[in-house]
Amino acid sequence: MSVEIKKLRTNFEVRFQFNKALAEFIKNLPKDQQQTKMDFAKRDDGTTFEDWYRVVNEAALSKIIDFIKANNLRFKFTNMEPEDIEKLKKEFTNRQTRGEAALKARAKDLDVSKFEVPNMVIQPYDYQKQAVMFFEKSGGNCLLGDQPGVGKTLSAISYAVKNKLKTLVVCPASLKLNWRNEIQRFTNEKAYIYKYKPKKRSKEIVNTKEESLFHIINYEALETFIKLNVSHTCSYVQCGWKETSTKKKYDVCPSCQRAKSVKSRVLGTIFEDKDGVGLDPKSYDLVVCDEAHYLKNAKANRTKVVKKAFMNVPKKLLLTGTAIKSMPFEFFSLLNFIDPAEWKSAHHFGIRYCAGFQDDFGWDYSGSSNLDELYSRISPYFLRRLKSDVLAFLPPKTFTHFPIELTPEEYRNYAKAEKEVVDETTGETKDADHLSRIQRLKMFTSQVKASRGIEIVQDIIDGDEKVVVFTEYIATAEMIANHFGGKAVLFTGQKSATEKQEAVDKFMKDDSVKVFVGTMGAAGVGITLTVASIAVFIDQPWTPSDREQAEDRIHRASTTSDKVQIIRLICQDTIDEDIISLLNSKEKVTSMVLDATVLDRKVERLQGSIFRDLVKLIIDKKK
Ligand SMILES: [Zn+2]
Repeated sequence: MSVEIKKLRTNFEVRFQFNKALAEFIKNLPKDQQQTKMDFAKRDDGTTFEDWYRVVNEAALSKIIDFIKANNLRFKFTNMEPEDIEKLKKEFTNRQTRGEAALKARAKDLDVSKFEVPNMVIQPYDYQKQAVMFFEKSGGNCLLGDQPGVGKTLSAISYAVKNKLKTLVVCPASLKLNWRNEIQRFTNEKAYIYKYKPKKRSKEIVNTKEESLFHIINYEALETFIKLNVSHTCSYVQCGWKETSTKKKYDVCPSCQRAKSVKSRVLGTIFEDKDGVGLDPKSYDLVVCDEAHYLKNAKANRTKVVKKAFMNVPKKLLLTGTAIKSMPFEFFSLLNFIDPAEWKSAHHFGIRYCAGFQDDFGWDYSGSSNLDELYSRISPYFLRRLKSDVLAFLPPKTFTHFPIELTPEEYRNYAKAEKEVVDETTGETKDADHLSRIQRLKMFTSQVKASRGIEIVQDIIDGDEKVVVFTEYIATAEMIANHFGGKAVLFTGQKSATEKQEAVDKFMKDDSVKVFVGTMGAAGVGITLTVASIAVFIDQPWTPSDREQAEDRIHRASTTSDKVQIIRLICQDTIDEDIISLLNSKEKVTSMVLDATVLDRKVERLQGSIFRDLVKLIIDKKK
């Protein structure tokens, strides 16, 4: 039996004498890859052939041909030129080899000990090397879904550096400087950041646009650079109004004033280059979208902009710690970006994998269904490791500093507060006054970090993990706890003993409670929060021992398998950095405090001297 394949305008017609196995196989292909129902072919006079036929797209055709070959059937193209057949064959073979190689590269027991990543200052862990290998085998178009804390950033950096890929990193604003730091720490490269004016201290770790292998931009800034170019047409024939512009839509036709008559279609993207820092997608080999679930809503302007602008970049790496199982539909937009031939129709995806149904409110794709099939379909370009998979590699405590950039307005306000500290300080100022002034600056950065910290905490709980958040201030704690509502518990000195115990119990036992927010004074000692393995410090404690005490709320020192991640938020070019550097230089002195027998008065005196030194540091800087 021979299967005849005819090229149509965009699709293919597959036609064959009835064969049960083949018919079953085609029937079970994803619905969005086949256009017509399988039926007998019809003659012009309406009578039917004995042949069966079906119209399918290219992705489905490649699967059908695989099936035909595996089952010793024959096929022939009826209307294609030899060179077009050759091209198609090449594409199919590439696709297949890529898929098979990628599947091999993701095997759990793969030995990567011989796999080196050149040009790195520090070699990544073996499981990160495996990710690099997986990216290479899958052709560089894939989704890395590792749980937060596993180290997706370093895997992506290693891949780019190993293959010398000119890379654009697109990330949330709060992670921009973290990417810069990681690139500097692990490689010999210095990143270039779009729309970023480094203060003196940060100058040495950024580079010019031309010199940098890595360019970094945040999603919001990208939207200001790149606009959608939209064609608008009034559908009312007598009007005939037309326009092509960056305006997103018209509710009312500007010419005939009819409501909802203007049909809009995105043609492409336009670059706006006011700052002389134009961004050309063609100049990149690789685009990395960090926290890629920012692109989950296909209808959002941000998603359209990123997809339209970067669809043709040869390699696209999407990083997200978000678990698929809770809401598979959010992944469709990402899959469509990586492999648009395979993932074409959101609607069919919604029906098949999101238990989609229709009611009076319209289609609902918020469920999940056929997840095993989904996992198997995406496995050639989806890799996810849980922290528990890579525990053996992780040190007992991992420390991550998240540098936070103040907005220009925040920075102006901060500088004003800092100037007040300088103006108010005289030689006679007492320690208590120093303390209150320093607190003023610290509280300022705490508020800034609270809002950025919320983004970071959200990403952690989206990755299906619990997280503990520490701050020095009740106001900051309340702000964060309120944001997460029923998913969070609050633990401050203002709560009663019963309320505090309830907060701990709920966090430890209730699966729906994901975030514990506590002030260091109240929650930094004596309680057990070991159900979490990530702690986010919005503010830094004053002494290493306070710091360690608080960290150990989530760390079971007794069990060797326990690995925790400590995240510190540091506002760049503010007192946050001064405190860290001063604490480091004072390590010798402060180590006294580690000795628990030190008297409170002594600690007080020590802290007093820190505050005085901090004020001195600020005054020196202002000179
Ligand atoms: Zn009109």
